[in-house]
Amino acid sequence: MTRKGILFVISGPSGVGKGTVREALLKGRDDIQVSISASTRPPRSGEIDGVDYFFMDRDTFLKKVEEDQFLEWATVYSNLYGTPRDFVVNNLNNGCDVLLEIDIQGAMQVKQKMPEGVFIFISPPSIEALAQRLCGRGKDSQESIEERLAACEQEMQQMSQYDYVVVNDQVEKALEKVEAIIIAERCRIHNLKLR
Ligand code: ADP
Ligand code: 5GP
Repeated sequence: MTRKGILFVISGPSGVGKGTVREALLKGRDDIQVSISASTRPPRSGEIDGVDYFFMDRDTFLKKVEEDQFLEWATVYSNLYGTPRDFVVNNLNNGCDVLLEIDIQGAMQVKQKMPEGVFIFISPPSIEALAQRLCGRGKDSQESIEERLAACEQEMQQMSQYDYVVVNDQVEKALEKVEAIIIAERCRIHNLKLR
């Protein structure tokens, strides 16, 4: 029995732990292709072009937008981010599952274009916990943290557009839930090519 590739989209407010859950999920498995996004943000120390992101300047990014090379793209806290379309479409057509870890604006664009995708909202246990995580991560200025917390309230209202919500209280438990979603989706009849 063969099946179609499934598009999994992990999304949620900044600092909720999307990247952490994604890293934990991918450890030791190669059965999901992870899309590498394009970004105009400068690389952080240790980040590698083509591994963490395809880093590029604004003009190059906007040229790709004009050429319709992105499945979705959005301005996220002053930088542009986009998902390369061909990688996603080619893998899905080849029967491979694909994972996107993108912001909420991007996830909503993908839902318009590929409503058959599986949309997973990662939620913070509380706004206080989110504030602590953003501070603890040590990557954002106080102003930027406040901007992210202010955005969170509105972002939480988008949750109803998703298929699943996973509260990231403890990473191991959140991981367990995301893994369960993946297993269940792979068993769904409409994702199987029955002959
Ligand atoms: P996002 O990718 O959603 O912006 P990150 O994965 O960068 O968020 O996580 C933000 C910070 O919160 C990081 O410092 C990370 O180690 C921490 N973190 C993630 N999940 C948890 C959790 N369940 N409990 C406590 N801290 C967490
Ligand atoms: P960071 O710069 O911290 O790596 O990511 C900032 C935010 O951009 C995160 O919320 C992340 O999920 C989001 N992001 C990363 N890649 C993409 C993408 O291709 N599209 C969109 N819309 N958001 C992205």
